[in-house]
Amino acid sequence: MAEQSLSVFKTTSYQEKPNDHELSFGRTFTDHMFLMDYSEESGWHDARITPYQPLQVDPAAMVFHYGQSVFEGLKAYLSPEGEPLLFRPQKNLQRLNQSNERLCIPQIDEDFLLYALKQLIQIEKDWIPTSEGMSLYIRPTVISTQPFLGVAPSTNYTLMIILSPVGAYYKEGINPVKIAVENDYVRAVRGGTGEAKTGGNYAASLKAQEVAAQDGYAQVLWLDGVEKRYIEEVGSMNVFFKIGDEVVTPQLNGSILNGITRDSAMALLRHWGYHVTERVITIDELYTEYEKGNVLEAFGTGTAAAISPIGQLDWGHKEMVFNNGETGHLAKNLYDTLMGIQYGKIDDPFDWVINVNTAVSTKVS
Ligand SMILES: *Cc1c(COP(=O)(O)O)cnc(C)c1O
Repeated sequence: MAEQSLSVFKTTSYQEKPNDHELSFGRTFTDHMFLMDYSEESGWHDARITPYQPLQVDPAAMVFHYGQSVFEGLKAYLSPEGEPLLFRPQKNLQRLNQSNERLCIPQIDEDFLLYALKQLIQIEKDWIPTSEGMSLYIRPTVISTQPFLGVAPSTNYTLMIILSPVGAYYKEGINPVKIAVENDYVRAVRGGTGEAKTGGNYAASLKAQEVAAQDGYAQVLWLDGVEKRYIEEVGSMNVFFKIGDEVVTPQLNGSILNGITRDSAMALLRHWGYHVTERVITIDELYTEYEKGNVLEAFGTGTAAAISPIGQLDWGHKEMVFNNGETGHLAKNLYDTLMGIQYGKIDDPFDWVINVNTAVSTKVS
């Protein structure tokens, strides 16, 4: 890959920053963004940080018609010393390339992209909210831009990284939610794109989410797309159950997204001495164990909420209530520990956190 350089064009009209308490998820964007283009002749090129602005994209651009696109989601956190921190960003960039591979999008130099991301965060560090539990959400996205209506991988792409200051996920403390087992719709199938972070998976999930919301549920629990027996994910999070002494999460099978919070939760649980297994688990097994009184906790994992306890899971008319509908010990400990590490407040035994200030001067690759 050609040696990359990064141009920086600063804005001349800085926005007024919102108050922390006004922030909700994903509605406010910072002053700058990162862009880079791909063409067959030049590969990935023209890496630049520019003022945040609309894109000019041809209406025939392939992304609008056939959905060839991928994205990522991670956060920058402010340490008590006021230093911007990133949590395992290399994992997100690796996964971006895994998603690219599935969607026939050309690979991107991960070291260069991390370098560019750190420069962007450095420029926008005053946008990281300072209040408890708040952070700067980072959204890298790749879209296919070739103006062509034929069905084929695009010859041109644009990668953008935009930043959005976000409020605390739990405004009144970590809180269990009510979930419905989804028996009609499926999110993804083996051999499909479930393991890639691509918009189409989200488009496919909206209907089930809409119906569940009408019935008073926060999210759905997804079963596998073929037999509708095997538990896969909860909403757009990975899922864990404490069954007796075992902590179970569905094993990756091609239709489950390989979550970084999932991986981090498994590492912490094992570090604490829990018996963690990645295996297939059916909804029947879960219910049978529940009836025996063995299902002690259930929770989801993902970047947005970190940990989301499941208070109640309804499978048709069968209701499962976990830990009296309250946040369990595992969920609470994982939540506190992940937040502590991400905000640089406690020991980071796995060296997950990167300090953008100290790392920014050394250009990798
Ligand atoms: C992003 C995502 C997750 C969570 O991944 P993290 O890396 O933990 O944020 C889980 N499931 C789906 C479907 C996702 O898109």
